[in-house]
Amino acid sequence: MKNASILLIYTGGTIGMKTDPRTGALVPFDFNDIYDEFPYLRKLNVDIEVITLKPIDSSNVTPELWVKLARMLRDNYRAFDGFVILHGTDTMSYTASALSFMLGNLGKPVVFTGSQIPIGVLRTDGRENLITAIEIAAAKRDGAAAVPEVCLYFQNRLFRANRTTKHSAEQLNAFRSDNYPPLAEVGVSIHYNTPFIRRPERPAQTLEIATTLDTGVLILKIFPGLTESAFRAMLSIGGIRGIVLETYGAGNAPTDEWFIRAVAEAIGRGVVVMNVTQCPGGSVSMDLYETGLRLQEIGVVSGRDITTEAAVTKLMVVLGGRPSPEELSVRLKSSLRGEISD
Ligand code: ASP
Repeated sequence: MKNASILLIYTGGTIGMKTDPRTGALVPFDFNDIYDEFPYLRKLNVDIEVITLKPIDSSNVTPELWVKLARMLRDNYRAFDGFVILHGTDTMSYTASALSFMLGNLGKPVVFTGSQIPIGVLRTDGRENLITAIEIAAAKRDGAAAVPEVCLYFQNRLFRANRTTKHSAEQLNAFRSDNYPPLAEVGVSIHYNTPFIRRPERPAQTLEIATTLDTGVLILKIFPGLTESAFRAMLSIGGIRGIVLETYGAGNAPTDEWFIRAVAEAIGRGVVVMNVTQCPGGSVSMDLYETGLRLQEIGVVSGRDITTEAAVTKLMVVLGGRPSPEELSVRLKSSLRGEISD
């Protein structure tokens, strides 16, 4: 009898490559042969079933993949104790954030991981990431899942997925979560940061999924020198219903009349504008400076300490539910999956 059963879903990315011993070229790794490649996985006493999707570089990820993953998790939810999703690192924070909002009533771990060096290369970081992700997905505490969240494991740290950002294309610790502590830290043993792990209020047998996403969203980063014509052109793109406005510091933006008027007009047309800071750490607080206050006055929603990845995917999922203006405002301001601090 195995301790746990895990569904491993491979979507692509660097982790899934190995060197062909004959040619020396990188070729796809077959995760169905996982026990042959890593015989010591048997020691975990975990049953692993593998689903291999058509491998893609994660730069090609679209919301269609997110919907596919959500359906796959729903359809297999009862049969497994935990889920590991192997994904390219480039957009892993987007996919994992999106999934965190799309999955409702989650009571089991969904652990995203990948690697900076292909799994078939001697010095790979993928082996440890994969094995520990499986161990975390299988971990129980008082008979229940140790981490019933959508999370991201990379280089000895487990993070809440919707708090992460890829910060390095070079270092093996490629991900950071500047505004929320790790859910677990891994050394000789795995130390779970239990007070920071979310638990469902009513663990349910069925997973609820949201599959209607509104892609009428935009991320707009301001910078000194941004012209009125460029800004207005972007704000008035047809079909846009939500904008993540990346501002400076604690949520500050120019107080120029044209800038404020352009944002106010977009809001007047029914576009929701969420203020997110360009800083990797810290929070938007629009009442700190005159430059933030003006945005608050015209109805810009504070994204507080949300990441851009979580903000844009939250907008897609929330807008996709076609909420009333009141519901929309409440949902955007509330922490739905621990993505913003209280
Ligand atoms: N370009 C790759 C991807 O995101 C990089 C990686 O997996 O690390 O699919």
